[in-house]
Amino acid sequence: MNTKQLINGELVDGAGEALSILDPSTGGEIVTIAEASDEQVDAAVAASEEAFETYSRTTPAERSALLLQIAQILEDNSQELAELESQDVGKPWPSAHDDEMPLTIDTFRFFAGAARTMSGSAAGEYVEGHTSMIRRDPVGPVAAIAPWNYPLMMAAWKLAAPLAAGCSLVLKPSELTPLSTLRTAELLADVVPKGVVNIINGRGPSIGDRLINAPGMEAITVTGSPATGMAAMRAASEQIKHVHLELGGKAPVIVFDDADLDAVAETIRYGSYFNAGQDCAQPCRVMVHDSVYDKLVALTEEQVKQIQIGAPKAEGTEMGPIVSEAQRQRVAGFVERARGKSEVVCGGAGGEGDSGGFFYQPTLIANVDNDAEIACSEVFGPVVTLSRFSDEAEAIKAANAGSYGLASSVFTADVGRAMRVTSALRYGFTWVNTHGVASPEMPWAAMKGSGTGCDMSVYALDAYTSIRHVMIAH
Ligand code: NAD
Repeated sequence: MNTKQLINGELVDGAGEALSILDPSTGGEIVTIAEASDEQVDAAVAASEEAFETYSRTTPAERSALLLQIAQILEDNSQELAELESQDVGKPWPSAHDDEMPLTIDTFRFFAGAARTMSGSAAGEYVEGHTSMIRRDPVGPVAAIAPWNYPLMMAAWKLAAPLAAGCSLVLKPSELTPLSTLRTAELLADVVPKGVVNIINGRGPSIGDRLINAPGMEAITVTGSPATGMAAMRAASEQIKHVHLELGGKAPVIVFDDADLDAVAETIRYGSYFNAGQDCAQPCRVMVHDSVYDKLVALTEEQVKQIQIGAPKAEGTEMGPIVSEAQRQRVAGFVERARGKSEVVCGGAGGEGDSGGFFYQPTLIANVDNDAEIACSEVFGPVVTLSRFSDEAEAIKAANAGSYGLASSVFTADVGRAMRVTSALRYGFTWVNTHGVASPEMPWAAMKGSGTGCDMSVYALDAYTSIRHVMIAH
């Protein structure tokens, strides 16, 4: 297990405070890892600035080859990386390997191709005697901040697109779950040119804050909570930096009377409780047409009650623990405040009593008002609410009311209605008759308070490139 950080091509022990990394399924310590010192953060920033000078001039073909090499290394080590991820986050095995590693690896393969598609628009004479051309160049060294829910996949999103664009970077994984990212640092130490990728460990308000405020970092990319997004915006406003944010979500699932209700209930079972509901796109706010409401509540209850919770490697485990005790308390707090105002159909309590782990039962809450706290705030745990609507306009209005604008879905057999509703929803992505299916070719896009820009797809390159005009007089 690697506990060292990657700074300027060297694997080094953190010189800061030792942080305990816990196994969420037992509450026991896996290892302690020292976070970076301020001097180490500054050294990583300086290394990425220096490396930018050469890496930004590499050809797309060279960057593409590097990304393909990284993909191969991850694939060759996918078993070990998934084991670390499963232990660190409490993800059920083999889901950690089978569900997450393919997209993580394919992200690098996709961006290996995308690196070679970047172009400015055509050159021409827009002023007599002058030829103009438009260039699309790397934006500068990037400060990248990743969350704990899908540590390696989020690290992949934060690494692959900037590297494809020609940017060097300093990446900080979450201090709760750094294991797979630090192992990746070790695997990449001899592969990536010195200083191009730096990976440091540490807490957000200290190490993360120093990184995003470092003058050498010209762009900031964050996947995390809205509070961290605001910290990035503040840092950027002090020094004018480019900012890309993928923040929280509260995905509505709008179920019309002609929907396949069995499919909806199954989507909730497998989508809403995947990763113990710790997913920014989690289908968590189910809005159901009055006429099918009771039926869907019954079907969903039947599905959710079958979910088996347990330790990642216990036989039959479908859902593991919450990542930390603090997060479990936060989830429980939302549910307790919702009691009395709505009906807790199942769950609503901890689980696996003697294990010491941070378990919380899959929870379904019915008769929730559309403006209730639990319907509007991101819980980020295994909790799903069911509320009612009586017509299309009411459903759209309620779904668009909150501050979030990440994922959403619509279940209906009527193509016209699907077209109308998807165009009216103010969300970065909307699925019809499914929820949660992702592909590197398609943007993971954010609107409103869920962020700016997107991860994945060729559009992710926008955050890491600047459009430039070059004019030649002749
Ligand atoms: P978080 O914001 O608490 O932490 C995310 C990262 O930010 C961590 O590395 C943390 O150390 C760092 N951080 C915290 N404060 C910071 C500061 N002041 N300056 C710099 N860095 C700081 O989020 P989390 O709890 O790790 O993750 C959960 C959140 O992430 C949820 O809101 C979830 O919706 C969101 N998320 C969004 C996406 C997406 O694609 N939109 C994907 C995954 C998670």
